[in-house]
Amino acid sequence: MIYHKHDAVIVGAGGAGLMAALYASKEVNVGVISKLYPTRSHTGTAQGGIGAALGNLEEDHWEWHAFDTIKGGDYLVDQDAAEIMCRDAVGIVLELEHMGLPFDRTPDGKISQRPFGGHTNNVTKQPVRRACHAADRTGHMILQTLYQQCIKNNVQFYDEFQFMDLLVNEGRVVGCVAYEIKTGELHVFHAKAVFFATGGWGRLWNVTSNAHSLTGDAPAVMLRKGYPLEDMEFFQFHPTGIYKMGILITEGVRGEGGVLINGLGERFMARYAPTLKDLASRDVISRAIYLEIAAGRGINGQDYVYLDVRPETVNRYFDEDGKKNPDGTPRRITAADIEKKLPDIADFCRTYLGVDPVKQPMPIQPTAHYAMGGIPTDVDGRVIVDVDNSVLPGAYAAGEVACVSVHGANRLGTNSLVDLVVFGKRGGIAMAQYCKQVDYGPLPPNPEAETRRQLDALLSRTSGTSAAAIRRSMQDVMMRNVGVFRTEKLLTEALEKIRDLKHQYQNVYVADKGKRFNTDLLEAWELGCMLDLAEVTALCALNRTESRGGHARDDYPKRDDVNWLKHTMIFKQGDNYRIGYKPVVITKYQPMERVY
Ligand SMILES: Cc1cc2nc3c(=O)[nH]c(=O)nc-3n(C[C@H](O)[C@H](O)[C@H](O)COP(=O)(O)OP(=O)(O)OC[C@H]3O[C@@H](n4cnc5c(N)ncnc54)[C@H](O)[C@@H]3O)c2cc1C
Repeated sequence: MIYHKHDAVIVGAGGAGLMAALYASKEVNVGVISKLYPTRSHTGTAQGGIGAALGNLEEDHWEWHAFDTIKGGDYLVDQDAAEIMCRDAVGIVLELEHMGLPFDRTPDGKISQRPFGGHTNNVTKQPVRRACHAADRTGHMILQTLYQQCIKNNVQFYDEFQFMDLLVNEGRVVGCVAYEIKTGELHVFHAKAVFFATGGWGRLWNVTSNAHSLTGDAPAVMLRKGYPLEDMEFFQFHPTGIYKMGILITEGVRGEGGVLINGLGERFMARYAPTLKDLASRDVISRAIYLEIAAGRGINGQDYVYLDVRPETVNRYFDEDGKKNPDGTPRRITAADIEKKLPDIADFCRTYLGVDPVKQPMPIQPTAHYAMGGIPTDVDGRVIVDVDNSVLPGAYAAGEVACVSVHGANRLGTNSLVDLVVFGKRGGIAMAQYCKQVDYGPLPPNPEAETRRQLDALLSRTSGTSAAAIRRSMQDVMMRNVGVFRTEKLLTEALEKIRDLKHQYQNVYVADKGKRFNTDLLEAWELGCMLDLAEVTALCALNRTESRGGHARDDYPKRDDVNWLKHTMIFKQGDNYRIGYKPVVITKYQPMERVY
């Protein structure tokens, strides 16, 4: 066992982890543990943009952004948190610009902005240009910029270290345990505070936009230790993943004018969202695609539709909509626009599909994309452990792994990147203040014992089922039964299947018994985390008998504010679970019906 000591340890080096590290490192000594090399984190794949009401191209206000966020989240959003996020976004985007982030520019040199789903001018109800972007590589630029700043600030990185356990002693966090992937050694980090920024868990589903590393390790560890997870039933399906592969085609394509087309060549979103059409929020569009497919209007009757950005088609629709540039000329998309504004997307389509988006429409289907729920926190990133908002001293979280909750039942595009930088910063600052006030707590005896026990159990078997087989079955059942549409029958079946898989997992067999880069072992360990999260996702989805945002129950098709305007908090108790509830924070936006 190898021992390290830092005031604060941050687990995860995506946008949230790096922003927290940057701010905490201004005040205290910080170590960052990441199972990936930092700039390989999923934040680097974010394409479309980061939302902030800069108003560079037209009138916009952070209050409009807050309202859109709350409405988009189907009123499950904690409104105090959304107000903080949308207000702080404006300053933080400028701060990122000053750090050197190369945003695209308007002709007069300001940060360029484009429309995105659900972001509107609250007066005219029309799409507003709010998403700040660096081509379709915004997340990549954020990650590179923040990483450089962290290096400049002497943050110490532990690259390719996998977090496996949180150490809590005498009611407070005292550190964590991590596995060094290169050597197979366990490391104990003695710390005053631990900050989780481990991202999402889209790998629970088989068609997903998420990277292989997104397996929900930290929330699963928290759950096992008896701490709650919030709103786990809400997982977003992004409408436009590449057919069968799930690789994301950014909403920015529709922001630039792209339209969805069914097998009859109809622009079908007009039926489901007459005003915003293809720029309605993601839950609405994913459901519309499923309904078109169910009605036999997929392409050639199959289970996909087209996303079309060909200038000839798109300009025809622009003419129908009467869309104009700010100078009054008719808006036109050209092949050059696609190459300049969506270069990576064009490249993905050509590489993975053999489809040239300038000349052909892209086959797409909804893809598992984003966790709205997660580790509950307050607006300063402090981890909450019960329905009365008590905190666990020394525990922090931000980014996709956390539930603060700014996305409620459905996240708007561009709002995750904002969430990362706003709450990463706030959490980093709050954590540094805490570290300055307290001493190191004593480590428990044998701090690495529980982790060693888990790994030894996985390595000890000489035969059994492979992790890959169990994972595939889990991903299939999650896709089929815990997807865009849910029913009691589907969810009950899913729970039974997942429990059966958990049983099989007791005998999972790891063939590689080696120490160095034992990905076989790590994948088996991660599968244990994913099975726990799959079980609580299905349980919470079964429990919530209404439809709201990303959680659509065919058997309870209406939103039910009387009984369900509340957050779910699920706790593990022995082999069982207990569900509690927390009220939604409402400041000034009373729940209304969502009309797009
Ligand atoms: C393809 C794609 C495109 C997207 N586009 C946009 C967009 O345009 N705009 C937008 O707002 N949002 C977008 N999103 C969502 C957004 O990118 C993510 O929600 C966000 O980047 C998550 O950031 P994060 O910092 O929370 O975690 P991540 O960036 O996912 O980083 C997770 C970190 O945790 C580490 N980690 C995980 N588990 C462990 C462990 N056990 N031990 C040690 N380290 C661990 C990893 O190494 C990594 O460093 C997109 C998402 C995807 C998948």
